[in-house]
Amino acid sequence: MAHAVVLGAGMGGLCAAGSLAQHFERVTVVERDPLPADAAPRRGVPQGRHVHALLGTGDEALERLFPGFGAELVAAGAVRSAVLEQARYVIGGATLARGSTGVHALQATRPLLEAGVRRRVRALSGVKFLEGHDVLGPVIEAGRVTGVRVHKRPGGDERAPDGAAGTGPESPENPESPGTEPEVLSAALVVDALGRAGRMAGWLERAGYGAPPEDRTKIDVGYTTRFLRLPPGALEGDRTVLTGNIPAHPTRGSGLLHQEGDRWTLTLAGMGGDHPPTDEEGFWAFARTVYPTDVYDTVRGARMLSEPVAYRFPVSVRRRFERLTRLPDGLLAIGDSVCSFNPVYGQGMTVAAREAEVLDQCLRQGTEGLPKRYFTEAAKVVKPAWELARSADLAVPQIPGRRPLAGRLVGRYMDRLLDAAHHDPVLSAGYLRVIGMLDPAAALFAPGVAWRVLRGGRIG
Ligand SMILES: Cc1cc2nc3c(=O)[nH]c(=O)nc-3n(C[C@H](O)[C@H](O)[C@H](O)COP(=O)(O)OP(=O)(O)OC[C@H]3O[C@@H](n4cnc5c(N)ncnc54)[C@H](O)[C@@H]3O)c2cc1C
Repeated sequence: MAHAVVLGAGMGGLCAAGSLAQHFERVTVVERDPLPADAAPRRGVPQGRHVHALLGTGDEALERLFPGFGAELVAAGAVRSAVLEQARYVIGGATLARGSTGVHALQATRPLLEAGVRRRVRALSGVKFLEGHDVLGPVIEAGRVTGVRVHKRPGGDERAPDGAAGTGPESPENPESPGTEPEVLSAALVVDALGRAGRMAGWLERAGYGAPPEDRTKIDVGYTTRFLRLPPGALEGDRTVLTGNIPAHPTRGSGLLHQEGDRWTLTLAGMGGDHPPTDEEGFWAFARTVYPTDVYDTVRGARMLSEPVAYRFPVSVRRRFERLTRLPDGLLAIGDSVCSFNPVYGQGMTVAAREAEVLDQCLRQGTEGLPKRYFTEAAKVVKPAWELARSADLAVPQIPGRRPLAGRLVGRYMDRLLDAAHHDPVLSAGYLRVIGMLDPAAALFAPGVAWRVLRGGRIG
């Protein structure tokens, strides 16, 4: 096939480009930002300054998409840690029992992860990046996408790849970009990977296909993050400390991860409007409520490498494209554009990588009916992650939403499971495998597990 265009060079767009390069002669990735040569934060991904954990199944998916990726990242400084053996999970007021999950986490900042994937995508034959260009919208003719309108930003210095550009109409979607005329990149397939604003939903509505139904959870999450350096051997050699479900502060949690450059990222998080402050005093007062004393003392005494920076995330959104009865041929979406998860569960990049695998699998069966087939299969990746996040969100009293009886019973069972997992390494490992999306949630309700939960984790 001839030409595919990916809109956005975030994690979703890069993974999509990796899959498309196996099926299209040419793939163009259009991105508004100039892309850094190395690992550096950038404007279009403001969340990249905050902790970004890769779940076990995301790590595996990236390795399948880009074989050798994990080793390359470790060579670039990323830290590998054995989940539960080298990581402390203080969940529900106590530390989960230590044991083995058989899983190793890849700990890197978001800029390093993205730079690693970008390097691999740049090396693929037929792939080009068109930086410094705003995406305006797809061109849809007679029920199929024939291209996408883009506009060079003032100061954007990249040219459209040879043969891909024509001239299109002025667009009202981008009134403030003066200067050059918009261009149309002709394409047989266009993939929206523009992030959580979810442009495809609006495009479909304006083109008469109707907007996809949406599920939303108003979570009002705030993050505050800073980098620090710990002395060698701090935290008894642990490489991660995650806290959550804190009985006295159910809205709060935190992530502390050893990452490249011998830096630790410390992110404080609060849901339901309980946002961690950015001033010194407020930051440490909040930190004191989320950490056990020894961890608090360690981070409080550490050398700070940056000032606190904040991020606000009001609502998680799942767009149900698979439920639309009509979709134009040649237009897909991936990543946050499909589902933008509560960030505290660390699911977004993992789901994006899995969706890219789904895209590859669907393309192996041809392009006939591709949008319906792709969105139906992608929804199967999104659903368990969304349901896991939503049930955890609704366990927090401050989060608004209907709480059906079945959900409340599951919540009570999960409380008991977590209590038991403080003693029982089989349960703590099982819990983390589900949170890491390596096993389905149903694994926590298997008879052998339920028995351990009922025994309170005290099984000889
Ligand atoms: C605070 C926070 C913490 C998070 N932590 C985690 C975590 O621990 N683990 C995890 O897996 N996920 C995490 N996530 C989610 C993760 O960041 C996203 O799921 C992931 O980035 C999705 O990738 P994407 O490609 O869909 O969108 P993005 O990565 O947001 O990329 C969108 C791209 O589109 C570009 N763009 C936007 N509009 C235009 C336009 N008009 N024209 C051209 N280009 C445009 C942007 O510049 C950007 O490059 C977190 C999110 C937040 C907010």
